[in-house]
Amino acid sequence: KLVADRYLKRELLGEGTYGVVFKAIDTKSGKTVAIKRIRLGKHKEGVNFTALREIKLLKELKDPNIIELIDAFPYKGNLHLVFEFMESDLEAVIRDRNIVLSPGDIKSYLQMTLKGLAHCHKKWVLHRDMKPNNLLIAADGQLKLADFGLARIFGSPDRRFTHQVFARWYRAPELLFGTKQYGPGVDVWAAGCIFAELLLRRPFLQGSSDIDQLGKIFAAFGTPKPFQWPEMVYLPDYVEYQYVSPPSLRSLFPMASDDALDLISKMFTYDPKARISTQQALEHRYFTSIPAPTKPALLPRPP
Ligand code: ADP
Repeated sequence: KLVADRYLKRELLGEGTYGVVFKAIDTKSGKTVAIKRIRLGKHKEGVNFTALREIKLLKELKDPNIIELIDAFPYKGNLHLVFEFMESDLEAVIRDRNIVLSPGDIKSYLQMTLKGLAHCHKKWVLHRDMKPNNLLIAADGQLKLADFGLARIFGSPDRRFTHQVFARWYRAPELLFGTKQYGPGVDVWAAGCIFAELLLRRPFLQGSSDIDQLGKIFAAFGTPKPFQWPEMVYLPDYVEYQYVSPPSLRSLFPMASDDALDLISKMFTYDPKARISTQQALEHRYFTSIPAPTKPALLPRPP
């Protein structure tokens, strides 16, 4: 029995933020795909209409570092999104203690992440939910961003699911201060957290609540001073904090190169207006200095 006259349903792959994901064969292309079934909940009709229109835009976001949305259709009252099937994800790579990541490997993973982000930012699409398990790895080693734009279409992911709290660790300070007008800088901050996580092999800023998350950020980079980020004091959830002076970046990342540290400091700039953009980050000398980024096919991967 085919789904939408085209997909041969296989096993369940997992449960995600927006619904279940199952493996399937696309009988039209013969390829293995992952189908995400999204619960439309109580706003069925309304969401259906706008969501499908926005999803049309996502289908046009084609890039080697963005997971391809092959098809999208409503079926039995649920929205179905069909993506290319991916072998692994960056979280599995980071957690696998048998994998050694060389400086060139880390550079390659960060470069692919930024390339995918830059492509979307150029088209004014934000990701908003960047984390290592949303960075999928294809059979040829290419890293591809998943779930692009879904946060905006379907609303912020439901944080009641326990596995979702981890997304907090990648949240930019302006989001934690309740800003309503945020931009591509939120994805750059998250990419900075992922860069740090590749270096440390554990999540960098592991807050246990939103307040604690800000505390972890301040402990790492010092409390932001108003001259560094003038708009901060006007943000909805801003509260005054006791001054904390930061340790040196070098002490946080003892094995990073000077170029890596410089890029890290620019990705973690407090003022989102002053934070480095994805395009500028890709042009940073970290990517042209030795070692060169490892070719995707040669990157280490879990078995
Ligand atoms: P989350 O919302 O928590 O990021 P997802 O909904 O993206 O989770 O995915 C749920 C499960 O399905 C995960 O275990 C993930 O590894 C798997 N999955 C998601 N997309 C794909 C894909 N394109 N190819 C293979 N597996 C996938």
